[in-house]
Amino acid sequence: MSISEKLETIKRELPADVELVAVSKFHPESDIMEAYRVGQRAFGENIAQELHSKALSMPKDIRWHFIGHLQRNKVKMIAPFVSMIQGVDSAFLLDVINKEALKAGKKIDCLLQIHVAKEESKFGLSFEECRSLLADGKWRGLAGVRLCGLMCIATNTQDEGEVSREFRLMGDFFNEVKQAHFADEESFNVRSWGMSGDYRLAIASGCNMVRIGTAIFGSRPVR
Ligand SMILES: *Cc1c(COP(=O)(O)O)cnc(C)c1O
Repeated sequence: MSISEKLETIKRELPADVELVAVSKFHPESDIMEAYRVGQRAFGENIAQELHSKALSMPKDIRWHFIGHLQRNKVKMIAPFVSMIQGVDSAFLLDVINKEALKAGKKIDCLLQIHVAKEESKFGLSFEECRSLLADGKWRGLAGVRLCGLMCIATNTQDEGEVSREFRLMGDFFNEVKQAHFADEESFNVRSWGMSGDYRLAIASGCNMVRIGTAIFGSRPVR
């Protein structure tokens, strides 16, 4: 199947309220354009330099999502181009994003990344760290960032019960923080979980954003 056929097939599976971010990291602009031509506009990248150079040369109505671990010194490079930063994992990073967003004259949508997986290697805030970041309230004063929700990467396992359990925990935690801090803010509504291997489980557990790469573009070229 071609990229556009795979994309269309996946889109037919997604409920209307689930947004698809096509994860194009490592894939060439020609592949992205194939998806673009059938209407895809949200793309995910996880290397700042790559997002920067693709954004410069590609259509301006593409919404670029930064989806991986973002180093503080790379925020400046992507701030003018990025539409959403998924994977904010510290108050300090949020501060840096705020400063660079203001310099770029914009507000950047951000998701807080939660570490829910079993692997130690994965990034993200624990539930407790996220609770205290939000309770601390400093984020309310950051005019350059808009907190829009939560993202996570589930454990990489064949055990669907475990993955579903993690997604359910995320859903419960989303409801908790929504009620505690964003009850009146409609913009806090994004639940970004689900990748190529587990998006069906993610949808079943009530996510409303999936980040799918391999199932659309094939396996990533090795660098
Ligand atoms: C690479 C990546 C994805 C997409 O993974 P696939 O398995 O190729 O769908 C999703 N989310 C994050 C954070 C990623 O780094």
